[in-house]
Amino acid sequence: MPIGPIEIGGLHVTGRIDRVDRTPDGHVVVDYKLGSAATQAAKLREAGDTQLQLPIYAAAVRAERGGAIDAAFLSVRDAEARRLGADKTADIVERVLPARLAELGERLRTGAFEVAPHECRGCDFRTVCRVVHLSEEDEL
Ligand code: SF4
Repeated sequence: MPIGPIEIGGLHVTGRIDRVDRTPDGHVVVDYKLGSAATQAAKLREAGDTQLQLPIYAAAVRAERGGAIDAAFLSVRDAEARRLGADKTADIVERVLPARLAELGERLRTGAFEVAPHECRGCDFRTVCRVVHLSEEDEL
């Protein structure tokens, strides 16, 4: 399902959602992932911070269709969905996401891309990741 353009926190966002389910209360946006369900659960803990995809999808669907909204990653590998939960999704969509995107937009406008080291938890890009490559050089 195509979304947008939708304005959130001063940014105009467009995209395409894998799946939107209608429920008795509203909707659930679903994004298919190849990684494990456990990996998707870890991503959900970052929702609204570094994980913005599902919150943006949820905001777009709620703006277009109204009603309650929930969001989920569905691991194709494990045939298992991990949901964010309607209450948390609503809080992120209403309060967290606009502020986060406004902050990111300001950083884009001012060119503020400072180095922000973080602990590597591994991801699908490990084989080509320069961060991993450089940290392994340090250990030599
Ligand atoms: S492998 Fe690289 S891109 Fe992936 S989480 Fe670690 S540092 Fe980040």
